[in-house]
Amino acid sequence: MDPLAASADSHAVPPTGAGAPAASGSPASLQELDARIADCRACPRLVAWREEVARTKRAAYADWTYWGRPVPGFGPPDAPLLIVGLAPAAHGGNRTGRMFTGDSSGDVLFAALHAVGLASSPRAVSVDDGLTLHGVRITSPVHCAPPANKPTPTERDTCRSWLAAELRLLRPSLRAVVVLGAFGWQATLPALNAVAWTVPRPRPAFAHGARVTLDARDDGPPLDLFGCFHVSQRNTFTGRLTPAMLRAVLTDAARTAGLS
Ligand code: SF4
Repeated sequence: MDPLAASADSHAVPPTGAGAPAASGSPASLQELDARIADCRACPRLVAWREEVARTKRAAYADWTYWGRPVPGFGPPDAPLLIVGLAPAAHGGNRTGRMFTGDSSGDVLFAALHAVGLASSPRAVSVDDGLTLHGVRITSPVHCAPPANKPTPTERDTCRSWLAAELRLLRPSLRAVVVLGAFGWQATLPALNAVAWTVPRPRPAFAHGARVTLDARDDGPPLDLFGCFHVSQRNTFTGRLTPAMLRAVLTDAARTAGLS
């Protein structure tokens, strides 16, 4: 099922003008995209899991009302830099409703973003914590929390419509993308190729520190793609990814994207 097409008929769209929906049903703004993603129910296994986690909760968060829905991207609509993760954490984004907010992976990521001047705070705890991002948007190739943090290939491919739509809307400003981990890398390359950029064959392999410049097929500038180990506990607790390594990739990508 194409979730984008499925949601087009049922979801309210903004008024005409700058926010007018395209004839295809593609969202006309990131605000509309985020609202439609939050209503998506295209993957039965993930819908059941995210809602079960929201019902049963973790004991430490018993007094929370979990979000329990797809988690949209977060950050300004004219961001030159995009960070692509994997999927929301069951008791992180699936609880708070914002990417990387309320879990240990987010603690590492936001500390680094703040250190290099891309976030207003090193901590992200809830949607109303006042945190803002500067020139960077954070998204994921799968918007629902998956069991064991492992989406199936079908779920990854189903959710790709949302990632492609987000890339399309960011296209005018987007200059660089940082992908956290091999799963995100594999999921993002086809979406980039579908939107505006040519991904070479064979496809570039994921590696921490990988950097690939993708030529544009439209009149716009090329895009620089950066690989970085995911900020998962498995990587950060073992020292495979250190804060310094993460800051180095973010600094390089931000500079490439024209952010000081
Ligand atoms: S993973 Fe993506 S496509 Fe699947 S239900 Fe969630 S938002 Fe929809």
